[in-house]
Amino acid sequence: MLDIKNLTATVGDKQILNGISLTVRPGEVHAIMGPNGSGKSTLAQVLAGHPAYEVTGGEVTFDGRDLLEMEAEERAQAGVFLAFQYPVEIPGVSNAYFLRAAYNEMRKARGEDEVDPLEFLDIVEERAKLVEMDPAFLNRSVNTGFSGGEKKRNEILQMAVLAPKLAILDETDSGLDIDALRIVADGVNSLKRPDNATIVVTHYQRLLNYIVPDYVHVLAGGRIVKSGGKELALELEAKGYDWLLEGATA
Ligand code: ADP
Ligand code: MG
Ligand code: MG
Repeated sequence: MLDIKNLTATVGDKQILNGISLTVRPGEVHAIMGPNGSGKSTLAQVLAGHPAYEVTGGEVTFDGRDLLEMEAEERAQAGVFLAFQYPVEIPGVSNAYFLRAAYNEMRKARGEDEVDPLEFLDIVEERAKLVEMDPAFLNRSVNTGFSGGEKKRNEILQMAVLAPKLAILDETDSGLDIDALRIVADGVNSLKRPDNATIVVTHYQRLLNYIVPDYVHVLAGGRIVKSGGKELALELEAKGYDWLLEGATA
């Protein structure tokens, strides 16, 4: 599904990614861990097509297409979803309306007609149940007055409704409490299907107590310095990152 080969990227004039290679197959959950400043968010942003990051080398193919040639919007339409890190509040626009608009954008991009509003209501209620969201939130303004955990759940709902082929979740250090970690983990686990894949970026080992990744990769100095199965996360919890960092600086 996703094949990254020797990817290098800069932001400003600083080289951040120093040759990342990673293959993600359908059905897999990959966790990307690593110390602060190692390039995790940069990798997520580069994959989503954020214009501030310049790819200076390497290749990325997604479903056989050259991802790096695609605009951010085209990537989203092709099924790459980057969860919003800082969820926007949209007073006066209901969550259900917002989700339907996003869903219709996706259908339009595929040359499909708009969804019937009643049919969509069924879809969104079913997905809300799947991520254990109270359906009352569908009628509230997008994220307005939502708690941190509710915003997190809403982000997972967006993912559930849009059903991307590849979801990229960047769980930054912005005060994720244990409930929010559980919401993210339960969402990722319940949305896992044989034909989709997830990349979860985190520096919280704790998140991986709930998500069961197929692979764990440690990023340091813009390179993957270690890959393994879920047991690697446990090893990191016990030993920290230092043992992996020698010779790994950019
Ligand atoms: P991580 O997510 O692993 O903590 P980031 O990808 O956010 O790491 O950052 C990697 C490095 O790139 C850091 O040294 C950070 O300061 C730098 N960096 C990130 N964004 C920018 C930017 N917009 N301008 C300059 N430097 C940046
Ligand atoms: Mg950081
Ligand atoms: Mg980050």
